[in-house]
Amino acid sequence: MVDDARPPSRAAIAPIVDACSTGAVPHPQSVMRLSKHAPPRAYSGSMNLNQLKTAVTDLFLARNCSGCTAPGTLLCHECESALKPAPAVHEFLIHSGLHWLPAAYSGAYRGALRRVLYTYKDHHIPELALHLSPLLAAAISEVREHVGTGPLLRVVAVPSRKAAIRRRGFDPVHHLLRSMDTHQRGGVLMPCLQDVRGKGASKRLDRTSRLRSSASAFAVTRDIVPGTEVIVVDDIITTGSTISEAARTLEQAGCRVRGVAAIAHTL
Ligand SMILES: [Zn+2]
Repeated sequence: MVDDARPPSRAAIAPIVDACSTGAVPHPQSVMRLSKHAPPRAYSGSMNLNQLKTAVTDLFLARNCSGCTAPGTLLCHECESALKPAPAVHEFLIHSGLHWLPAAYSGAYRGALRRVLYTYKDHHIPELALHLSPLLAAAISEVREHVGTGPLLRVVAVPSRKAAIRRRGFDPVHHLLRSMDTHQRGGVLMPCLQDVRGKGASKRLDRTSRLRSSASAFAVTRDIVPGTEVIVVDDIITTGSTISEAARTLEQAGCRVRGVAAIAHTL
């Protein structure tokens, strides 16, 4: 269903967003009347700039919900509600190859969350980062509360495969982390891992093959002060092998990995 709802290109959106930023677009109510696709919606008069940009872009481009394909908006109220972080982020343990680590995620990889994540990653819709980053921040916060890390905590993202970055034009997890400030992120961002895996789509591998393929998957790209405390972050945990390998690589480089966090899991 998501494939049928291809979002507009960034180039198509940019002039409208820019015009909105400079006030060169009509009031949202008058724009709504121009749209054949979006139903009229009351303007509350209390939109912030991001909400205004989203509303105007929705109406000009007749977008569909990235969670359920309903017409009229990039993310409908129902799907937006489904993306709220759970009050208590679930926890489980993951093995780094050296020891067990606490891990937290904000939701199961299914339903609206799965479709929105797919759209965000494979169609590069930056506005969806506003809805996904709180889920990642909540999972990081849960790990921090669990292990009691200090103020100099570093957050390390599991890097995407190079081929995926070339195809998508960005690294989704890095983009999410960069969209947060240090407080939201729960620690200083430390980009220090590089993907050195060979070609081949890991999602087509079974669990045994994936565990084998993840050996020596990452390389550390900078000097690390021994004992640096880090939380390793990814968007989705499937078998746990990828994030475990990232943690093991960091520990071998001298880090003290305190936990891992992700938006969603399939375990
Ligand atoms: Zn929806």
